[in-house]
Amino acid sequence: MKKEKGQLIVLSGPSGVGKSTVIAELIGQRDNIYFSVSYTTRQPRVGEQDGVNYNFVDRAEFERMIAADELLEYAEYVNNYYGTSLKAIQDRLDAGIDVLLDIEVQGAAKVRSRCPGALFIFIIPPSFEELSRRLHRRNTDSEDVIVGRLEKARVEFQEIPHYDYLVINDKVSGAVAEIEAILTAAECRVDNRKSILAQFA
Ligand code: 5GP
Repeated sequence: MKKEKGQLIVLSGPSGVGKSTVIAELIGQRDNIYFSVSYTTRQPRVGEQDGVNYNFVDRAEFERMIAADELLEYAEYVNNYYGTSLKAIQDRLDAGIDVLLDIEVQGAAKVRSRCPGALFIFIIPPSFEELSRRLHRRNTDSEDVIVGRLEKARVEFQEIPHYDYLVINDKVSGAVAEIEAILTAAECRVDNRKSILAQFA
């Protein structure tokens, strides 16, 4: 059944928790959901594609977008800008398509104040030790960078009380199932079923 308005979903979680894998799985198995491709000034990593993982732009272009008010939210994270295009998500939500944002905690706070109907999900590893193990196993960062990411994670965890749901990524399939359950419950809210209710009035 086509929805009148899409659900905006914000997903945050520390670096190394496995967000991208969970998102890829979720997008693959769910219809009518769009992953918002953010804009960033950071350099692409090996294997990342422009327009797929991110829209890679330079600082001048990003600052033009800020000045033109084209971003729903943006944040500076580890010396790079990251931001969400307002138009790209608004068009989808208006078409009844759910939109998923993978953004860090400062950006999520901005969305919370601008979009009261959004759903906020924080994803954590089963333990802090496991997060450290995953960052080491990824083998992409030096020990200094890993220590920095773990410190950042501790700061990010303090924002969890502002989120609606906490998902534990022990196994990817379990985390995806928890998010599926949250999205299904949100769809069943009376507020989201007003058009069906009208015929029973
Ligand atoms: P990475 O460089 O590892 O891809 O992303 C670094 C952080 O930036 C992650 O926590 C990710 O969730 C966040 N991020 C990605 N896109 C956006 C965005 O559009 N806005 C904000 N605020 N954060 C973002």
